Amino acid sequence: MIPGAEAYDVDVAVDESRIDELLAVTPDDVAPADELTFAKNVFVPLTTACRYTCTYCTYFDAPGEASLLSPEEVRDIVRRGADAGCTEALFTFGDDPDDRYTRIHDQLDSWGHDSIHSYLREVCELALDVGLLPHSNPGDQTREQMERVADVNASMGVMLETTADVDAHAGRRVKNPGQRLNTIRTAGELGVPFTTGILVGIGEEWRDRAESLLAIREMHERYGHVQEVIVQNVVPNERSSFERPSVETMRRVVAMARACLPEEVSVQVPPNLSPTRELLDCGVDDLGGVSPVTDDHINPDYAWPALQQLEDIAGSAGVPLRERLPVYERFLTDDRWVSERIRAAVTADDEAGARYREVRRE
Ligand code: SF4
Repeated sequence: MIPGAEAYDVDVAVDESRIDELLAVTPDDVAPADELTFAKNVFVPLTTACRYTCTYCTYFDAPGEASLLSPEEVRDIVRRGADAGCTEALFTFGDDPDDRYTRIHDQLDSWGHDSIHSYLREVCELALDVGLLPHSNPGDQTREQMERVADVNASMGVMLETTADVDAHAGRRVKNPGQRLNTIRTAGELGVPFTTGILVGIGEEWRDRAESLLAIREMHERYGHVQEVIVQNVVPNERSSFERPSVETMRRVVAMARACLPEEVSVQVPPNLSPTRELLDCGVDDLGGVSPVTDDHINPDYAWPALQQLEDIAGSAGVPLRERLPVYERFLTDDRWVSERIRAAVTADDEAGARYREVRRE
C-alpha cells in the first residue's frame, strides 16, 4: 500500500508483476524521440513559505524569512517575460504556508486575500493580462483550492517525487505520497492538464521508482490529463549532500518512464540539472520550461542553458527543437480541458494571440 493512500482514499494498487516487468526495461528497449520540445517561460517564485522541510530543498525559507512577491513585483516579472517572447508564467510555491507563517498570512490579509490560492488567482489574472499563460505548481491542493484557480491556469502541476516513505521528507510535517496522488487525481477530476514527475536519488529504491511511474500511469489512464512526466535527478546543494545519481541510473529510469507511459505523455528532463545529452536516446522528448529572463529559483546554483544550447542538444541527437505552449495541443483542441478564459487568450486577435498561433504553427 502506498503511504497515505488510505488516508486520502486513493485507490491506486500497483501490481507487483507490472513492477517486475518495468524493472526489466533498459535503454535498448525504447526508441529515441523524433523531436524535442520546450516552452519559453518566466519563473515567478510567488512564495518561498512552505509547511514542509524536505532535506534536499533550497527553495523554502523559514517563517520570518520567507518571501511573498507583491502584485507590483509579479507584474514587473510577467511584463518582462512577455516582452522577451515567453508564453508561460510559471508560478512556483512552497506547499501551503502553514500557521507558523504569520507574516505571510498578515501580508495576504492586508492585500485582501484569505489564502494563498486567492492571491494566486489574482496574479494568474495579471499574467493573462500581459499575454502569458499561467502554469502553477502550488504543491498539494485540495479540490476547493484547485477549483479556485483552475480556470485561470492553462495547466498545473505537482511532482509526485516518489510513492515511497523516504527520510528526505523530514521534519514535523512530511510530504505524503497519498496526498500527492490525491492532488493528481483531483486535477483529473477537474479536467486540468497536468504535469507531474519523479525525483531520483532521495533514498527511494528501484521498486519505488517503478511503482511511482506506474501510479502516474494509472492516474492518466483514468482521466487522460497527464501531459508530461519529469524525470529529475537530485543534485547536491548547500543544504544537503545527496549524491547525484549516475548517468547509468538516469538512463535506466528515463527508459522505464518512456516504456511505462502512453505515447501522448511526454518524458521531460530538466537540461540544467540532468546529463541531458546522454539521456536523449532513452526516450526523452521534452526539455521543459526554459527562461530567457529569470533564474531557476528552485535550483539557483544551476543556471538555465541558453536557447542556443537547447538547439545544440537537439542537434546532437539529430532531431529538431520545437517550441510548445505550457498546455499541450491535444488539450486545446478538446473543449473539456481548458476554460473559456484560457481558450479566449490563446485565440485572441492581439499580439499575444499572434504569438500563441506562431508557436502552434497555425
Ligand atoms: S521540495 Fe517543495 S514541499 Fe519540499 S520543502 Fe521544498 S518547496 Fe517545500
